[in-house]
Amino acid sequence: MQFSIPEVLQILSTEVAEYAVPIVDLIAVQTNDPYKILVATILSARTKDETTAKAAARLFKEAPNLAALAEISEERLAKLIFPVGFYKNKAGFLARLPGVLASEFGNQIPDEVEPLTRLPGVGRKTANLVVAVAFKKPAICVDTHVHRIMNIWGYVETKSPLETEMALRAKLPPQYWLTINSTLVAFGQGTCKPVAPHCDRCVIAQYCPQIGVRPRKVVGNSKKTNGDTTAMRKFMSWNVNGLRAVEKKGFVKIITELNADLVALQEIKALPEQLSESIQNIPGYTAYWFSAQKKGYAGVATYSKEQPLSVLYGIDHKDHDYEGRVLTLEFGDFFFVNAYFPNAQHGLLRMDYKLKFNNDLLAFAQTLAKQKSVVICGDFNVAHKEIDLTNPKQNEKNPGYAPEERAWMDQFLAAGFMDTFRMFNQEPGQYTWWSYRFNARARNIGWRIDYFCVDKKSAGRVKGATILSEVLGSDHCPVTLAFA
Ligand code: SF4
Repeated sequence: MQFSIPEVLQILSTEVAEYAVPIVDLIAVQTNDPYKILVATILSARTKDETTAKAAARLFKEAPNLAALAEISEERLAKLIFPVGFYKNKAGFLARLPGVLASEFGNQIPDEVEPLTRLPGVGRKTANLVVAVAFKKPAICVDTHVHRIMNIWGYVETKSPLETEMALRAKLPPQYWLTINSTLVAFGQGTCKPVAPHCDRCVIAQYCPQIGVRPRKVVGNSKKTNGDTTAMRKFMSWNVNGLRAVEKKGFVKIITELNADLVALQEIKALPEQLSESIQNIPGYTAYWFSAQKKGYAGVATYSKEQPLSVLYGIDHKDHDYEGRVLTLEFGDFFFVNAYFPNAQHGLLRMDYKLKFNNDLLAFAQTLAKQKSVVICGDFNVAHKEIDLTNPKQNEKNPGYAPEERAWMDQFLAAGFMDTFRMFNQEPGQYTWWSYRFNARARNIGWRIDYFCVDKKSAGRVKGATILSEVLGSDHCPVTLAFA
């Protein structure tokens, strides 16, 4: 399994939102003026953001547009932009800029990389940045931070920023092209510094292979035990639809490569003693099992890298616990609840039972939430809203999308829990289950019925939530949560 760029970039976008914004983006949010963005980008090369900001403000006061810039002497420009790096050279570039734009581009700032590189002081990096930031067009601005960090992650193996740009054009999904520069510049300045990066407090440390890195030395041991660590954790939940079946489809390899701290499985459909040694003992994990009394039915299991303080089997309710539906691991500052919600079944024959289970589980979760953070994951067996399935109209009275089930989900969220995936993603077509019939998965005709939810008070601990739709082996795919 490759390094997951969507997961990592989602976590970083949340993380760097708290950092200072790089200067070019800062000017971009204050103005849409390509001229100012171009000039600020030229000034920003090899210059600290604070210095660039002050120099740009002085310059734009006297030269708010191209025509005004043309009236200012090179000497005066040098005074205005001092002390940005190479200010004399940059003053020369700015002095020549209006003339070149007039003679070659009809006084318009070009919106493509190649023509931009014909302007004085504009290299490929600057040109990409202007195209991306000023014109919101697909461009990947690769500076030393992007080049360095992408190689540290092993996402590319390149020797120069130009090689990195070309490699990323071939590989990086286009939705990240516009934002990758500002995200990694902020992250490279704040955490993944060129010298002695702060791996000790890095939110993506567990994803990062740290290729060629010498992390900063940390005095003392900041890692605590039993869940009291403040480090980022990765959780995963997957309805495997039969653990013995999914073993034949590479289950152990998938779990090992995804490398989550906690792995919640539903519908294991087996007793532990029916499972192979390699499933029972995955290196690095301890497994906790809660099988249904009925053989080959339901059942949940949780693998944990860290030893929990306690394990709760079921919700202490005689109507539910023989079905092996809920397994809770308690850690120092949170409960991890792995739940397999009942199916309302054809004709909604089991709706009453399902709603009773749901309400009892909610009461259980609310009790836990009074003590510490609660993470509830699993197959909820309901698509909450229209956006969560391909064919809402046709399924309005079917199990998994019946009004009673959706109303309960409303009630669950109103009671103080959050659907973490929708904290980050409002797009349709994001599913976790596909029928085995009609080639549904290949056509992405699916349902989002697997969730990671947290109690509202813990929303700030949620750093990312994804659907791993590329992971095969079951009719469901795994979902993940990054939790600090
Ligand atoms: S773990 Fe270290 S090297 Fe890797 S991204 Fe974080 S700070 Fe950079």
